[in-house]
Amino acid sequence: MPTTEHVILRGLVLREVDYRDADRMLTILTAEQGLVSAVARGARRKSSHFGAGTQLLVYSEFTFFEYRGKLSVDAAEPQELFLGLRSDILRLALASYIAEALAACAPERSPASALLGDALNLLYALSRGLRSEAVIKAVFELRASAICGWQPDLEECAVCGAETPEDPVVEIASGELKCARHASGDRAELDTASLAAARFLLHAPSKRMLSFKLPEESLALLGRMAEKFFLDKLERGFGTLDFYKSLL
Ligand SMILES: [Zn+2]
Repeated sequence: MPTTEHVILRGLVLREVDYRDADRMLTILTAEQGLVSAVARGARRKSSHFGAGTQLLVYSEFTFFEYRGKLSVDAAEPQELFLGLRSDILRLALASYIAEALAACAPERSPASALLGDALNLLYALSRGLRSEAVIKAVFELRASAICGWQPDLEECAVCGAETPEDPVVEIASGELKCARHASGDRAELDTASLAAARFLLHAPSKRMLSFKLPEESLALLGRMAEKFFLDKLERGFGTLDFYKSLL
């Protein structure tokens, strides 16, 4: 006979979908098990005891029942509500894109502590307005690409070996840095400052990833490269990203 077990995991709610009459199906990003799905029974009733703990973009300590490999939420104790995301439409739109993208690129039922750590640090900074939306978005896309297995190779031009090409581009398909004249196919331009920032971001620990400065133009180049590369590797777009861009 299958047994019921309690499982305690901390995680960030990335998606909530109405399920049956009063339930909600959650997609949660955890450090230990990556993406997990869990049903929160009765979560849509006014009398639900889950409160804020099962809401989108809340980081909670969950107690789950596990039965026949399926999880249901027994309790959800909020650890971080990211309240600053909920009072600002642009911040909320960007955070929603980050959540949707994480649900698309994070592994299921295998460890994802680096992705979760970045997500929590970025949502915290976004929620507090510590860095601009453009910085948060570029950092997320570039680092999520690398963590999910598509690390661009930015050490030197892949053709001539120049360490700092005068007109650097990233070839989207190969993820290789090249001088513009050596590149073929779809590419994204960088400049010296945005290239240096991209290299920093691929190696920086999560706690330090936001400690860089870039002129506006260089940030725009970094942002275009990061988005183009990330979406190309995921082979899809996101409704939440379109909405975020419609606000700019
Ligand atoms: Zn070259």
